[in-house]
Amino acid sequence: MNNYESHEIGRDIVKRYRKKTGQSGRHFEAAKNWLPGGETRKASYYTPYPTFMEKGAGCYLYDCDGNTYIDMQNNYTSLVLGHAHPRVNEVAKSQMEKGVVLGSAAEIQYRHAEHLCNRIPCVETVRYGNSGTEATLFAMRVARGFTGKEGILKMDGGYHGMHDYAQVNIFPKFKEEGLPEPWAEPWIPRNLLKDIYIAPYNDLETVKDILKKHKDQIAAVIVEPMFSAGGMFLPEPGYLKGMRELTEQYGVLLILDEVMMFRLQYGGLHTHYDITPDIVALGKIIGGGFPVGAIGGRKDIMELFSPDHPHPIFHSGTFNGNNITLEAGLATLELYNGKEVERLNTLGDRLREGFKKALQSSGIKAQVTGMGSLLMVHWREEKPKTARDVFTAMLPAWDLAGLFHLEMLNRGIFSASRGMYVLSTPMTEDEIDTAIEAFSGTVKRLKPYIVDTLPHLLTA
Ligand code: PMP
Repeated sequence: MNNYESHEIGRDIVKRYRKKTGQSGRHFEAAKNWLPGGETRKASYYTPYPTFMEKGAGCYLYDCDGNTYIDMQNNYTSLVLGHAHPRVNEVAKSQMEKGVVLGSAAEIQYRHAEHLCNRIPCVETVRYGNSGTEATLFAMRVARGFTGKEGILKMDGGYHGMHDYAQVNIFPKFKEEGLPEPWAEPWIPRNLLKDIYIAPYNDLETVKDILKKHKDQIAAVIVEPMFSAGGMFLPEPGYLKGMRELTEQYGVLLILDEVMMFRLQYGGLHTHYDITPDIVALGKIIGGGFPVGAIGGRKDIMELFSPDHPHPIFHSGTFNGNNITLEAGLATLELYNGKEVERLNTLGDRLREGFKKALQSSGIKAQVTGMGSLLMVHWREEKPKTARDVFTAMLPAWDLAGLFHLEMLNRGIFSASRGMYVLSTPMTEDEIDTAIEAFSGTVKRLKPYIVDTLPHLLTA
């Protein structure tokens, strides 16, 4: 829980937020009658209550009180073309006229898959589902089926969705010293912990030790090409290449979770590091704003899904490969071409530089991490390298981050409450500069709060 009201600046920010978003507050009170705690998605909740949005157009959001925001959250990165893009709407509407999903095979399924295969060098064939969660679930399952081994090595604090295996160590055990042990909340089966191996992100030595010892138990390593929920920071030089070499050496498959990072390079972020994973998990932007997940990879591994296989993996789903998602997804991917990827990443660099300058000129030692169109603000003195670094700094700065987010809302910028900022293609330098101005004003407004509550973040 937040304790905003203990400081005068906190009280003022919350008061202004409540004043600006009265109707959202009333909606939230009503929602509490019908939704546990008034919400249905952890990531879109924040205190004192979330803003209720009514409409999105391009890179703007409009709330139920008539306020306008620049959307720098973009449904947690999935809306790379922003809201209601005319071309995406056109193909989606045209499909709606013909039926949303026809419960049968359809040409769009292989045309979308063909695009992914041409775009991502390591992807030879594709299977679809409805979320990134399903993508990583099936990536792990096919790795087990292919190797005949059960173990999965994942990174401490890595997020790969909501299924049981992915929920192990979503947060690091940050109070402990030494290497992280597998842990999970009580509602995740204990039995599963014995099959999960944990290494800190950016720590190849630990991966090597674990693989050396347990290569006969581990089916795959799953890792992101940039750590997302664990802190939005880049791998250290050589980390991903080293991971590829080690997995090859020890006969373990490499799953790259590109659910969020795919947008950062035309062929997925791993191509920037010149590595070839065995399987990639995809989601978010490839569905053009509609629910989606997919896995792709080496043909011999993916063949386990084929009905021609003597012992195929049972992979079904009422909405798998549904027409409307794939039509919208393909239109999005065609528009989000190499040039657009680059343009958006350049805009992201401008935003990052602007944020950094604003912090520096106010004498605050926060970090702005990320790459291209994704960035995150960390209330810590040095760049993070592991999830433990991120979460150790996040806890004492919990209220600061919450107030910062609210004050950005007060100033018309909608970002992810954990300090993540996401770009979409309708943005121009104008929106970026408006966001920098709001950020700069927010830093200045919160400086006295930082002086009083987190003085270690001051440069002098
Ligand atoms: N993997 C990563 C890296 C993600 O960021 C996410 C979602 N934020 C997922 C998997 C799960 O995707 P979904 O929310 O679509 O289930």
